[in-house]
Order: sequence, then C-alpha cells, then structure tokens
Amino acid sequence: MCGKIQDQANATEQDSAAVASEIGGSGTKPNPSSLAPINLDHGDPTAYETYWSKAGERSTITFTGDQSLSYFANAKNLCWFLEPKLEEEIRRLHHVVGNAKVDDHFIIVGNGSSQLIQAALYAVSPSDQPQPTSVVSAAPYYSAYQEVADLLRSGLYKWGGDAYSFNKDEPYIEMVTSPNNPCGMTREPVVNRPQGKIIHDLAYYWPHYTPITSQVDYDIMLFTVSKCTGHAGSRIGWALVRDKDVARKMVDLMVISTIGVSKESQLRAAKILGVISDSCLLDKSPGLENFFEYAQHLMAARWEKLREIVKVNELFSLTEYPSEYCLFTKEFTEARPAFAWMSCKSDHIEDTEKILRGHKILARGGKRFGSDPKYVRISMLSRDQEFNLFLERLSSIHGITSGN
Ligand code: PMP
Repeated sequence: MCGKIQDQANATEQDSAAVASEIGGSGTKPNPSSLAPINLDHGDPTAYETYWSKAGERSTITFTGDQSLSYFANAKNLCWFLEPKLEEEIRRLHHVVGNAKVDDHFIIVGNGSSQLIQAALYAVSPSDQPQPTSVVSAAPYYSAYQEVADLLRSGLYKWGGDAYSFNKDEPYIEMVTSPNNPCGMTREPVVNRPQGKIIHDLAYYWPHYTPITSQVDYDIMLFTVSKCTGHAGSRIGWALVRDKDVARKMVDLMVISTIGVSKESQLRAAKILGVISDSCLLDKSPGLENFFEYAQHLMAARWEKLREIVKVNELFSLTEYPSEYCLFTKEFTEARPAFAWMSCKSDHIEDTEKILRGHKILARGGKRFGSDPKYVRISMLSRDQEFNLFLERLSSIHGITSGN
C-alpha cells in the first residue's frame, strides 16, 4: 500500500507541477491537448483552499518552542494523548451540525481515520478464533479497506470481500461507509448476522456532501478532518466509541504504533473545527460565510456542470441521488458526493479508466472497489483549475466518439 501511495504522491507532485506551470505560470489559456494528466485518482481535498484563505487570521495558530513537549495531553482521559481542546471542538461541531450523537461516546484521536480503521479492526476482532476474522464491505467499497485488512497478514483479521456475498456462519467485521466512497449512496449494514461487528465510516457524513437525515448513534463511528474541512495534511481523524473496552483497545493500538498523535496537528484541527462551528453561528463569526453553505454551493455547482456535460456527450452516466430533507439546512437536497461514480454506456468500452487516461484524466477504475471496470471514481475535490480542465477534457471525449 505504501508503495502505491508513494507512486500516487509522486505522480501528483509531477502532474500538479506540470499543470501548474501550464495553467498558472503563463496566464495564457491552456491548450488541453498539450497538458499533463490531471490526477483525480485520489480525493485530495484542495477544493476549499479559497475559503481558508478568506478565513485568514481566524484559522491561524502559532506555537512557541516550550509548548507541547510532553507525550501526554490529559493523563486522566482514557485517550490520554487527546488534546482537551480538540475533544471540546469535536463535541461542539457534532452538536452544531447534528450529524452524530457524541455524549455517550469516548473520543479517540488518530493519525487520520486511516489509523483508526486499523485500530477499530484490532479492537473488535475476537481473539479466540482459530482463523482470522473476515472483514467485509458491500461493493463498491472503499479500496483501502482491503489493503489495510491484508497488509500485515494479521492472525486476527483478513479481507473477506464483498459483504453481499458473505454467508459464513462465523464472526465477521463489516465496514459500512455512509455516504459511500466511491458511489456516494447512503449505506446500511448488509450481512445482518448475530456474530457481526460493525464499524461505521462516516468520513463524508457532513452537510456539504449529503443531506443529514438523522443524528446517528452507532457503537463505532469514524470521522476525519480530511474530508470535513479539507485539512488532509494535518492527518487528524477521530473515532466515537460507545464501549469502554473497545475504546481502550483502540488506544492500545495507537500507543503501540505511534504513541499518540501530534499535538500541533491536534491543536490546529481544534482551531479549524472551532472556526467552522463559529461560522455556523451568526453572532460568533461576523464576515465569515457558513463553511457548510460555502462548501455545499461549491459542490452543487461542480455537480451541475458535470451532469450537464455527461448529459450532452451521452457516452457516460452518473449515479442519481434522491432528494431528502436535511436536518441541518432545513431544506430538501440531493447528495453532492466527494467522488463522481461514473460508468460508460457503450457496449464497446470495457475499461472506462483507460478511456479517461487516454484523455489525460487519471481516475480510479471500478475493479479497485470490487466493481465493474466500466465504472470509474473521479475526485470532485480538486482545485478549480484542475476541475475545469477535467470538464474540458471530458467534453472532448464526446467530440472524439462522435467522430469529430
Ligand atoms: N474513510 C474513507 C471512506 C475515506 O474516503 C478516507 C479518505 N480517502 C478515509 C477513511 C481516510 O481518511 P484520512 O486518513 O485522511 O483521515
């Protein structure tokens, strides 16, 4: 997995540099045919940079040399490396947004929710089984689950594939991602057998991506600043965990693997979460737009443009989402997911990722998500310039297929 991520990181660096030099530097309109590939393979959430530059000093945090030396943040807390300010801001944000119940849950901070996925798998795996417990998720599933489950060839758990096909009478762990990565749909567990443990990955359960239809209250819920505010580089995720023993085991994994989480990152995340909570409360943040409204408009505008192009070119199709009442915005809205899950309608095209690659659009093929290669996942969270180039190139595919 690390190799893959490194390759992707290198690719992004080179591609972004190439794109930047073509579109940013010269100030002239780029010629799409001469450009380097646009990397929309992973969901690097740079779309909200403009908001954060407008937030300016409000979102700035500084540290002095004598601060944050200790491993400990709060020795009395079960999660003793969790900064109290971050805990306070996480609880406050969930109260402001109303997307998850937090009052009866322990909070565990992780190095991204990626580390918390591992911690949760470790914590809920039965230790008395002769064979590793199967980790399943309904296809199309987030491609990292398989990588995380199998990387270390653990004696505790192993990847068990598509949850729709799981029919063994034995313990299992089901990852439920809602809204789902890659397809953006709302998800429920699908196995529903008594011996199952469920981990709810709610990375995208925020009002800019999906209507908030209920205040969820599951045993294990994972969130991340990466997708909520766009601060993926801070590597902060959090788990809300009801059961004390499960929470303690998750903390054990965090301690053994990284002895906690950077305090600088935690305090920065606390600051950022504080800014978005304040931005939702009129009197708290004069002059700063409500973050969720801003991000919702940005995503809605992108989806509208993409749908228009897909409608015109007739070669592709996009997932449709129902209109549902959002308890946060108090309006009926459709989901505007962080990824477009797009398929090719032509019977002659088997591999949509390849078609896009031929037009210098890098996206992740359906196979990686346990699905058909006719599907691709495309990040909707890039910067405006990359997103606009993507649209330009996608429209040109229509031109080619219609013989122009
Ligand atoms: N869960 C889901 C569903 C995701 O899409 C991602 C990021 N792609 C993560 C977890 C991990 O996020 P991070 O480690 O950046 O917090």
